[in-house]
Amino acid sequence: MLEPDTIVAISTPPGTGGIGIVRLSGSQTLQIGQSIFKAEQSLGQRPRYMVFGRILDAEGNPIDTALACFFKGPNSYTGEDMLELSCHGSSIILDLLVRAALVHGASLAGPGEFTRRAFTNGKIDLIQAEAVIELIHAGSKAGLDNAYGQNSGQLSSLFHELKSLIVKPLSLLEVGFDFVEDDTELIPRTDIQDSLEKARDLCLRLIDTFEGCRRRLKGVLVVFIGRPNVGKSTLLNALLEEERAIVTPIPGTTRDIIEGQVIWKGEELRLIDTAGIRNAKAELIEEEGIKRTLRIAKEADILLGVFDGSSPFSTEDQVILNELGQSSRSIIVCNKVDLPKLFALPKDVPVSHYLDISARSETGIAELKEKILDLLPKPSLVQGIGISRQRHFDGLSKVYKKVDLSLEMFEERHLEECIATELYDCIKILSNVLGENLDDDVLDLVFSEFCIGK
Ligand code: GDP
Repeated sequence: MLEPDTIVAISTPPGTGGIGIVRLSGSQTLQIGQSIFKAEQSLGQRPRYMVFGRILDAEGNPIDTALACFFKGPNSYTGEDMLELSCHGSSIILDLLVRAALVHGASLAGPGEFTRRAFTNGKIDLIQAEAVIELIHAGSKAGLDNAYGQNSGQLSSLFHELKSLIVKPLSLLEVGFDFVEDDTELIPRTDIQDSLEKARDLCLRLIDTFEGCRRRLKGVLVVFIGRPNVGKSTLLNALLEEERAIVTPIPGTTRDIIEGQVIWKGEELRLIDTAGIRNAKAELIEEEGIKRTLRIAKEADILLGVFDGSSPFSTEDQVILNELGQSSRSIIVCNKVDLPKLFALPKDVPVSHYLDISARSETGIAELKEKILDLLPKPSLVQGIGISRQRHFDGLSKVYKKVDLSLEMFEERHLEECIATELYDCIKILSNVLGENLDDDVLDLVFSEFCIGK
């Protein structure tokens, strides 16, 4: 009887009409592979080379031609023997192939089980494993670069660096345990202080990258605000190059939030057209729309205040100006400049970014796109990398507090043993972030975010 340690899964979405990939990993990979794939050259003869052949269903009938690549462990993604079969991406073929593998002794892989095995077998640490999810979901080139850096181990090295900045003072303090009180001068106080300050600084710099990196990963939020009928929907359509928002001359048509996504120069942007903001006579549904507008405006990475160039500045426009505030990420857009211009901003308004456009005739749209791209938030990074996962943020925040407390205790000459306890905790937290000595239930939680086949 075979040990049920070999897993199988479809690694591409089936039914997409492209190529379908089925992966196996585990000690029986070769044996199972030889039962479901036949070629002139036997599988395993030349690891890491593609072999052309046929795949078979559970009864041994050929169902498709395919390419097979066998990886001999530990030189594989998971570190175990692995097989990748590329066939036509039909749901039926992929389903029959997986069934055949199951009949021959494989079991179905759980979510992220291939990556989990890579982690368990020491091919990657937990930060690198989590970066696989970030790679898949990256919503911008910057998000992708960060995920790639994390996956390649750059973030892990910073965590290791942080760990050694804490291990060093800890070992120096431990030396002090053995000294009687009078001899404590033998402890190199400056070295300890220095190292802890560096650790605190690195912690803080990494924590500071979180917000920006997370936003970049999700895609940037560009929100349009303006009173009704100034041309926000027309502008959204012009930027999306499609008729997404309904454009009508009746004020208050966009009662809720309309979102469109674009990718400009590798950056994913979520463009959000909101309910027009106005003071008077808004009915109940519209009022709710206005509330939502104000809420989402607060979350915006870039806020576009749209004004009607063909009508004079009004009190309602003033509400929009107040919302825009003095943020360097706000753009004032004066629309409808194809019509005679009656609009003028009050003299004392500080303007960082201003553009005249006509959404209807698409004048100034290219300039607006450039301006938006120019203003995209650039996340602060540490050696080109940042953190984007809550788990890392939480771990670093705890370490920061403990290192800060240790420094304070050290300056106030508390007992070395008490300071050491705090530092031991820090090392334990950092080890957990890296995935060392973690309980299975924490790992289950991390890998539950993965899809099957990854
Ligand atoms: P919203 O309520 O702010 O979303 O405004 P809409 O996009 O629905 O536009 C309101 C009216 O203004 C429609 O009749 C549009 O055709 C018109 N409009 C929008 N942009 C322009 C423009 O650049 N020039 C002119 N002349 N009319 C425009």
